Amino acid sequence: MASFIVLLGPPGAGKGTQAQIISKTLNLAHISSGDIFRENLKNETELGKKANEFMSRGELVPDDLTIAMIQDRLSRPDCVDGALLDGFPRTPAQAEALSKMLAEWGVGIDCVPYISVAPEILIERLSGRWTCPTCGYVYHEQFNPPVVVGYCDKDGSKLYQREDDKSETVTRRIDVYLTQTSPLIEYYRGRNLLAEIDGTLSIEEVTKKLLAEIKLKIG
Ligand code: ADP
Ligand code: ADP
Repeated sequence: MASFIVLLGPPGAGKGTQAQIISKTLNLAHISSGDIFRENLKNETELGKKANEFMSRGELVPDDLTIAMIQDRLSRPDCVDGALLDGFPRTPAQAEALSKMLAEWGVGIDCVPYISVAPEILIERLSGRWTCPTCGYVYHEQFNPPVVVGYCDKDGSKLYQREDDKSETVTRRIDVYLTQTSPLIEYYRGRNLLAEIDGTLSIEEVTKKLLAEIKLKIG
């Protein structure tokens, strides 16, 4: 039976960090909407250019573009056994579209872990985040530093700081989360899928709690 897990939480909560770890443990495809948009931008596709108009301002990419992109991604063969969604859905319209898409395929969402972290902590997390341009792995200069400062442990690429992790855009992204994405907490709680996890714990402890919650829901 395929498993679909949606990781919910504000920018900087640790969704990407956790998804990298648990997608391997659970053997599920890791689908990060932000990574797909950044990949498209790097390859200078039409989607990448369009998405970047919104990303660079800390706004959400319009629902129609985002939903079409995810539908295409989830239709690929590596998702037949399920997927771990990181950063999608981010609006009620996206959540509805996802439910509809999965229902058409005869499957559904199994669990929505919500990683909660207060806004003050998010700013510190995002402003110290360094990202690998090759594998997308994320580090924090203080909380999760690479072995060699400035370079990825996995592939040795030179790390970079995302444009949208710079100060004004960070506060805008947190506001956008609070107004447009946080209603999904109640949306999924009402469907009995939500599992709230304290995202201020260490990376290892968050992983343990996440795996325990997922196990409860999908066995
Ligand atoms: P973070 O992990 O810091 O929350 P992401 O890498 O998930 O950031 O997303 C970066 C940007 O990509 C977002 O600020 C937004 O502009 C765009 N984006 C990613 N996912 C979505 C989505 N589901 N809907 C709309 N825009 C999105
Ligand atoms: P998101 O995908 O939700 O935007 P990330 O996984 O990219 O979040 O994490 C944001 C930043 O916070 C990164 O620099 C990451 O290394 C760091 N981080 C992630 N989880 C923790 C944690 N539990 N404690 C401290 N720092 C963390």
